[in-house]
Amino acid sequence: MIYQRSSELFVEAQNYIPGGVNSPVRAFKSVGGTPIFVNEAKGAYLYDEDGRRYIDYINSWGPMLLGHAYQPVVDAVIEKTKKGTSFGTPTEIETEIAKLAVSMVPNIDKIRFVNSGTEACMSAVRLARGFTNREKIIKFRGCYHGHSDSFLIAAGSGLSTFGVPSSPGVTKGTAQDTLLANFNDLNSVKELFEANKNEIAAIIIEPVAGNMGCVPPVNNFLQKLREVCDENGALLIFDEVMTGFRLAKGGAQELFGIKADIVCFGKVIGGGLPVGAFAARNEIMDYLAPVGPVYQAGTLSGNPLAMAAGLAMLQAINTDTELFHRLEEKTAYLEAGLRKVLTENKKTFVINRVGSMISVFFCENAVENYEDAAKADTPEFKAFFHGLLERGIYIAPSSYETWFITDALSYEDLDETIKVVTEVTK
Ligand SMILES: *Cc1c(COP(=O)(O)O)cnc(C)c1O
Repeated sequence: MIYQRSSELFVEAQNYIPGGVNSPVRAFKSVGGTPIFVNEAKGAYLYDEDGRRYIDYINSWGPMLLGHAYQPVVDAVIEKTKKGTSFGTPTEIETEIAKLAVSMVPNIDKIRFVNSGTEACMSAVRLARGFTNREKIIKFRGCYHGHSDSFLIAAGSGLSTFGVPSSPGVTKGTAQDTLLANFNDLNSVKELFEANKNEIAAIIIEPVAGNMGCVPPVNNFLQKLREVCDENGALLIFDEVMTGFRLAKGGAQELFGIKADIVCFGKVIGGGLPVGAFAARNEIMDYLAPVGPVYQAGTLSGNPLAMAAGLAMLQAINTDTELFHRLEEKTAYLEAGLRKVLTENKKTFVINRVGSMISVFFCENAVENYEDAAKADTPEFKAFFHGLLERGIYIAPSSYETWFITDALSYEDLDETIKVVTEVTK
């Protein structure tokens, strides 16, 4: 039994924590089996409680862009910890990281730090509503913006243009203010604007979707959304919790040359500590309390340890001029290797990739939206996932997730991965 201790720990955890996990996808429900309990991680590797090593393609779901236990982040946190872990007062380091983030990301003047991506998106939407004095928002099927009520919405049936709760506990009232459109489908967006004239505060989108697998925007979709927002007086919110500081220093805005009104961050910006943030130009950010009327707060927001980790992370990204080039090269190498062996092994597959985000879908046709992603063959993915895991390659336990490439990966690691994929898909 190769996951002996993990399975014992999982049984015990389930006695005290719902499903044994503090975030559902960790439970391996969509692939079956026992989640590995990780004991430690360094660079590109995870080590589980059974002492097995894995090449990690999840990287804490994104944050570990530079690898696990990245020394400058570890050192910064240790040093800060010695001076106290939380004060509930302003600290100088908050301004330092804010100044750096604002210098790296286009089109933002000010940034507010929170504790998670969920909080960032939730607050961004409140700010957009306050600023525009409108109540409805548009989100896309298959995009994830955290677990706050406004985002746990599915498409309504029949002729209704508004959504319905996708989780018990979300009220119908909340659901009515979230309109659902299809990713990469401009008409679905235009129809919503038609049917809800002067009521839509904002469109929120993952500029490169990563939560239905990696799904890039096609046919200038983001540019067209920018135009539709401008024509209708709505704000464009880029949820860059996944793409921010990953696709480029300035995230998807920089990569695609599109200007968002509000940008949300999480994951990489915290260097592995709980951090989220949202940012915009002055005119919008000054709507926030204590300057403006839109309320938003947090006891641990801007926490010194979290800011130290985030600052060390952003400094590393900002000063390493070759980083994004290396990430692109490594991920392109992996993509080419995977394409070669999957083709040789006569698999039906689609690979989507933007920079260091990559997904393998076991399906026939291009994956450009949620419906396409849902066609990816689940039994085949399960076998693929477990085959990789048993051979020491850790990818996300769901076909709706992206692989996150870290700079800590060596070409030997990538070759090992491609070799394992060859074996598993034979
Ligand atoms: C992870 C993620 C979130 C939620 O962030 P949490 O820190 O898990 O709350 C929001 N949006 C996107 C695009 C994400 O990938």
